[in-house]
Amino acid sequence: MSKTDWITQELDSLRQAGLYNRIRTISSPQGAWLVVDGKRVLNFCSNNYLGLANHPDIAAAAKKSIDAMGVGPAAVRSIAGTMSLHVELEKRLAAFKGVEAAITFQSGFTANLATIAALVGKDDVIYSDRLNHASIIDGCRLSGAKIIAYDHNDPKSLDEQIKASLAGFRRALIVTDGVFSMDGDIAPLPEIYEVAKKYDILLMVDDAHGEGVLGKGGRGIVDHFGLHGKVDIEVGTMSKAFGVMGGVVAGNSVIIEWLRQRGRPFLFSSAVTVPDAAACLAAIDILEDSTQLVDKLWSNAGYFKAEMKTLGFNTGASETPITPVMLGEAPLAQEFSRELFETGVFAMALGFPTVPQGKARIRVMISAAHSSADLDKGLEAFKLVGKKLGVI
Ligand SMILES: *Cc1c(COP(=O)(O)O)cnc(C)c1O
Repeated sequence: MSKTDWITQELDSLRQAGLYNRIRTISSPQGAWLVVDGKRVLNFCSNNYLGLANHPDIAAAAKKSIDAMGVGPAAVRSIAGTMSLHVELEKRLAAFKGVEAAITFQSGFTANLATIAALVGKDDVIYSDRLNHASIIDGCRLSGAKIIAYDHNDPKSLDEQIKASLAGFRRALIVTDGVFSMDGDIAPLPEIYEVAKKYDILLMVDDAHGEGVLGKGGRGIVDHFGLHGKVDIEVGTMSKAFGVMGGVVAGNSVIIEWLRQRGRPFLFSSAVTVPDAAACLAAIDILEDSTQLVDKLWSNAGYFKAEMKTLGFNTGASETPITPVMLGEAPLAQEFSRELFETGVFAMALGFPTVPQGKARIRVMISAAHSSADLDKGLEAFKLVGKKLGVI
């Protein structure tokens, strides 16, 4: 027996259960088409909503910044000083979001860990949507606060949970995803805000899939619902629609100042690199300049979803460019994904535990980078495979 035998056994059981993660290798830039494991395929997988991951202006800004400022920030910002680019990025993000202040992190994941653990502790309570993202769940656990889950997208359930438990705690936080990435549905933020206001509780939304997608020119879920000044904390990521890397927390200046003092991933981990920060700034330039890419994203998504429905597919409850194609059991979803890949379409199957048992699906990620010919090619592949496997 060796100390790692248990790991080998666990890995084997993952393989047997069909839950082992096989990671494909991409040898091309991100875009509408990819070279995946040596094969050229249509990309229906990535979060590159606006096609910015390989945008020439963004790549040029990153290169220019390296010539001027090098690459690494070389230390934690609070210890060795922060680079002007990071300060500028935070100012530009705050202006873009229409909030008082913003702070950036290495990723959306660390932004959630930092924020939740800085705002609540062991005497406090968090009301968390049952389907919140893993990074929210981890942030909640890290905080040591009591975690009370409310039913997904159900402000009534939230209200009932608060009413039944709030009195026993010092402080409280309500936290929800803005867009839920498995189904593409949107949190009913106006109603959640009413509950937060009724009990005077801090409200936090993680808008990772709404940043650059929802609202005017991609300003996010708060803008989408016209809730400016009402949601206390907006977490976002620059790794999805922005096409780069990095997390952001936007809100009032007191909360942001607190995160600069108490957000542990800010205090104990270095910031994103110089070209990352410069690339994020260039992404904001593009978004502020025109709504063209965001408009294209939505018209592409509208077209694709309507055509999929006409073909007879069930695209679930999506209200966003995330398009789940509901198939039922995981083996069918996996086979569907394999067949699609054979016909030149890269779209991932998602099964338990990522989604509930019996709700396995292919998740199609539509992008502004897709041309209408690309979308038609994808629809043709879905039709072919759907008929072959008896789904439609
Ligand atoms: C993707 C995602 C994150 C993580 O963002 P990264 O910047 O990739 O770390 C956090 N929250 C939600 C809801 C996400 O979808």
